[in-house]
Amino acid sequence: MARLDEYMMPGGLGTYHRTRNQLSGDSSSSRLSPWLANGCLSPRTVYWRVKRFEREHAHDARRDGFDHIYKFVFELTWRDYFRMYCAHFGARVFFAGGPAKRRRLWRRDSDAEDRWKSGRTGVPLVDALMRELAATGYIANRGRYIVASYLVHYLGLDWRVGADWFERLLVDHDVCSNYGEWASMAGVAAAPSRGQPLGLKGRGPAAGRGA
Ligand SMILES: Cc1cc2nc3c(=O)[nH]c(=O)nc-3n(C[C@H](O)[C@H](O)[C@H](O)COP(=O)(O)OP(=O)(O)OC[C@H]3O[C@@H](n4cnc5c(N)ncnc54)[C@H](O)[C@@H]3O)c2cc1C
Repeated sequence: MARLDEYMMPGGLGTYHRTRNQLSGDSSSSRLSPWLANGCLSPRTVYWRVKRFEREHAHDARRDGFDHIYKFVFELTWRDYFRMYCAHFGARVFFAGGPAKRRRLWRRDSDAEDRWKSGRTGVPLVDALMRELAATGYIANRGRYIVASYLVHYLGLDWRVGADWFERLLVDHDVCSNYGEWASMAGVAAAPSRGQPLGLKGRGPAAGRGA
């Protein structure tokens, strides 16, 4: 609750839409994920505290042209979305072909996997992020996309190697969000063309919505 109150400030939530994609900075995003993931903080509590902030700061909430409140609630809703995703698709969320049942032979290469895990790929940004993950148990949302995209699209490795590594290290590990995001990155999360109720969050070179 202390962190929630700390973040409900003009310099915190009041800048969210502009700062959320930054790779560092205590106030660039809420950093509430460990408490949300471990059941210490309910998303409803967060939502209603955000609504209070909106009322109290109505005069300057959109002063810089960004809708910070809308964007924050939109991102918070992904958490619920991935819970629905797991409830809907069950054990298939862990399969290589995912809910989309996409056939693809994922590569396994223990040397490349070890270099990715230990931050020794030779790509400075990827390596810095992987070392930050190992040292702190956290990397910002954009950093997660960068290292996941590198593993899946550049190295062509089985996306579940990445999901498993995140599961071991993240202090905010949430099985639904983690496996859902990794499957989305790998393009196996769902098959929108089949009219599934949960078709959707595409990632990577041929994917849909921007992060
Ligand atoms: C490959 C990958 C793996 C991820 N694994 C996890 C995980 O194990 N646990 C986890 O909580 N989040 C995960 N995320 C989502 C996101 O990166 C984190 O929720 C976010 O970085 C946490 O920081 P924050 O609390 O400052 O987020 P904020 O931007 O302040 O968002 C507020 C809250 O909304 C929720 N949220 C925000 N973005 C997402 C998202 N894209 N998907 C689901 N929920 C979201 C989180 O509960 C978060 O605490 C993953 C993303 C990727 C790309």
